[in-house]
Amino acid sequence: MSLTVQEVKERTFDVVVVGAGPAGAAAAFYLKKKFDSVILLDKRVFPREKLCGGAISKKTRELLLRDWGIKEDLEEISTKAQTGELYIKNQLITNISLKPDLMYFVSRADFDHLLVQKAVNSGVVFEDSKKVIQIDHINGSLVTSDNQRMKADLIVAADGFPSFVSKQIGLRTTANSNLRFNALAYEVDVVKDSFTKGGSDVSKLYLGFANTGYGWVFPKKTTDTLGLGGLYERNLNLKDDFIEMLNDLKIDKSNFKGIKGHWIPSNQKLGKLSKDRIFLVGDAAGLADPLVGEGIYYALRSGKLLADSITKLDLSSIEISARTYKTKCEKSFENEFRYAYKLREFLSKERNLNFCIKILKSSKTMNKDLLRLVNGDITFKKFWWKLILRSPILFYHFITP
Ligand SMILES: Cc1cc2nc3c(=O)[nH]c(=O)nc-3n(C[C@H](O)[C@H](O)[C@H](O)COP(=O)(O)OP(=O)(O)OC[C@H]3O[C@@H](n4cnc5c(N)ncnc54)[C@H](O)[C@@H]3O)c2cc1C
Repeated sequence: MSLTVQEVKERTFDVVVVGAGPAGAAAAFYLKKKFDSVILLDKRVFPREKLCGGAISKKTRELLLRDWGIKEDLEEISTKAQTGELYIKNQLITNISLKPDLMYFVSRADFDHLLVQKAVNSGVVFEDSKKVIQIDHINGSLVTSDNQRMKADLIVAADGFPSFVSKQIGLRTTANSNLRFNALAYEVDVVKDSFTKGGSDVSKLYLGFANTGYGWVFPKKTTDTLGLGGLYERNLNLKDDFIEMLNDLKIDKSNFKGIKGHWIPSNQKLGKLSKDRIFLVGDAAGLADPLVGEGIYYALRSGKLLADSITKLDLSSIEISARTYKTKCEKSFENEFRYAYKLREFLSKERNLNFCIKILKSSKTMNKDLLRLVNGDITFKKFWWKLILRSPILFYHFITP
């Protein structure tokens, strides 16, 4: 249906943020400290679920405490795993206490709602049920599905992966230019205790069900989330592999509703992050680590880096800010993503994986470090070096690009 100018109401803002996941809430929260009118839009009704393991790493918790003052609120909505277990298929390889740094898991409905509330408390206007259906990157205007037109000096695309906004404006990022090179992940929520027995808060990782990927069981407040993710081009039948995993783990189908899947960007290089007045953050910008698939931290950080980069809203200042934002993101993420990618490629070879499993079986320190890596407590670079020091074979992989 085409709309005449009179039918479309127009409102003007300094900043419009499209998508109210962690990236959008963060961009709105940080940009509100600099600009008067910031509106955050989401197509869904909040609080809304989002397919996600909901693991909140230590570095994410530190960022939330430092910048947002979030501590007790997060404690309240989190389940904390005391123990981590590593399996190959359904055979336990090792289990380890996670103390003192427990692993935190949240339902994304609670977590994202908490962030949006904090953004609203800081003065951001939030409107849900507002799907952006049209966008003009030169004028900085957009239309929502309820026929509202908005105009802004800056538009932030935080609409997840693969981003509708970046597609609309023809912004090809490294991640969205070919979906095959990204990860796909499937999940189900099962009734708590139906699998973990006794409700013990254990987080479990499974190797062997996906090539260049892993499975997980993460404890939440009322359910356990089971998932399997892997690089799409090496796991073309990932849904079938996930069903095999559920069968192997003897999960009774009556304990869960449908299996759902979603993409996770999985690249070491960042592509373009802006076009004219439009800037990408979070998944929309392709920001998740290529080994574990952690994205929440990078979503929050990119929102902050964007706000740090934007000084003024006139077009020439925005052009300079675009370069600053790209440089800040490259400096902050690319080195980590490079090492995560290196580890991923290394572990995708069976011989190397077996070698690492041997190390994990024999070394409590490496076990602990693996869990610290998943918990965001040590960097991919540091973990890689720790592996290197254990074997000359790995050294070869370090010196080859
Ligand atoms: C199965 C799975 C498990 C994962 N597990 C973890 C984990 O345990 N820990 C972790 O850190 N990361 C995990 N990730 C990655 C993590 O979920 C993402 O990286 C993170 O959600 C990115 O946040 P975001 O704000 O960029 O995007 P999203 O969280 O996807 O938010 C995008 C928002 O934009 C809205 N939107 C989309 N289009 C429009 C539109 N046209 N108009 C208006 N609104 C729109 C959507 O409704 C949504 O609310 C997982 C991902 C998957 C798929």
